[in-house]
Amino acid sequence: MTQYVIPENSLSTEQTSLAELKLPAPETQIVTSWKIACDGDDAAGLGHPRVWLAISPITGFVDCGYCDKRFVIDRDHAHDDH
Ligand SMILES: [Zn+2]
Repeated sequence: MTQYVIPENSLSTEQTSLAELKLPAPETQIVTSWKIACDGDDAAGLGHPRVWLAISPITGFVDCGYCDKRFVIDRDHAHDDH
């Protein structure tokens, strides 16, 4: 008599992959300043001219036009110079 073993962890495996898919944009950095400078990732050979980016208080993030990196404000720790 042959017995087949059904893997009981198939559901939990699926949940794990779903959690991994939650990753947003290519690269996201949490920052605490509303104005940030981005010059790419020189270490990885992906540098670009330095640009200053202002995070919109409405959306809470800004995307770098050069490298598509997304900067997300950490509202709880953000400096407000005003
Ligand atoms: Zn950039």
